[in-house]
Amino acid sequence: MTRSALASRLLRWFERHKRDLPWRREPRDPYHVWLSEVMLQQTQVATVIPYFERWTQRFPTLETLAAAPLDEVLKLWEGLGYYARARNLHAAARIIVHERRGQLPRTVEGLMALPGVGRYTAGAIASLAFGARAPVLDGNVRRVLSRIFGLARPTEAELWTLAESLLPRRRAGAFNEALMDLGATICTPRAPRCSACPLRALCKAYAGGHPEAYPSKPAKQQTPHREATTVVLVDGAGRALLGQRPRHGLLGGLWEFISAPRAPAGAAARHRSCPPTDLHPSDLTDLIAHKTGLRVKATQAEQLGIVKHAFTHFKLTRRVWLVRLPMPGRTPPRTNGYDRLIWATPAEVERLALTRSDRRIWEMYRARRPTLFD
Ligand code: SF4
Repeated sequence: MTRSALASRLLRWFERHKRDLPWRREPRDPYHVWLSEVMLQQTQVATVIPYFERWTQRFPTLETLAAAPLDEVLKLWEGLGYYARARNLHAAARIIVHERRGQLPRTVEGLMALPGVGRYTAGAIASLAFGARAPVLDGNVRRVLSRIFGLARPTEAELWTLAESLLPRRRAGAFNEALMDLGATICTPRAPRCSACPLRALCKAYAGGHPEAYPSKPAKQQTPHREATTVVLVDGAGRALLGQRPRHGLLGGLWEFISAPRAPAGAAARHRSCPPTDLHPSDLTDLIAHKTGLRVKATQAEQLGIVKHAFTHFKLTRRVWLVRLPMPGRTPPRTNGYDRLIWATPAEVERLALTRSDRRIWEMYRARRPTLFD
């Protein structure tokens, strides 16, 4: 079977089985294509759909996105994770509006010059929105190609070359989407439904009898585990102290309750700001002083609970304490490790873009003390 026969089989299958997704409505809006591809990185379609709908209602055009403050952009992204995606979208929208008269570049090279746009996203936008003959290579495409060609450990370069060589002369965008849909709905990682696959007749992995073995998985590395101590500091006016994380870096620009990493046993004496594993109220006092410059007595601290969160490269366990002040809190004289610190009312906490685990901490606090602020 020739490669053009592969493309025509796949495109015929796609015509009948393509998924009906909000960003595929015709005529294609390049901004919507771009947004969906960014949201779909590391995220399931079902999770993305409501975010996409809310986002396009609030920011229907690149101009509205470019004009919005970053805080609002991050708030709309809250819960979707990998916040650098939102910061880059926002920065790129400003470049397009202010430097390119609102026009997205139409070529892979031009698109890759924008913040956060890699070869995959550029190929997707160029082919889906502008009909360019540009390949894509995401997790689904990687798996489908590895199986069809029986490649156990293909390199990225090999797969990009393969993806490019398979592109039909016309309808490259539809072909790319067909490969993605096939990987998402038929050629799934654990139990591919080969009996429903239009490419079965030419699939080497199927012929070998163990399609799920392709591509072979790298040996699993142990994920490091980190711990942190978090203080929900509430003042006598019913406000909670929150810090905005530095714009650049993990969870940049998001808000959190005052936190510090926990020192391993024995290290506490060397790192006075890191509460040790056996925590004493004075450690919370030290933590608050170190991060904010505020001197408070934490003798009445209550343990609120434990929140766990998995990042790509490590797992985090946060032990959360509640410390209440009898008086309205002072403006913190120091912002150590934060861009800003604010005393926020409950309504303000709701409006801020919190990290996912801080949103859970807030819900935990509200469940424990529903009437304190009311
Ligand atoms: S035949 Fe099976 S393994 Fe091969 S591409 Fe189709 S679904 Fe994937």
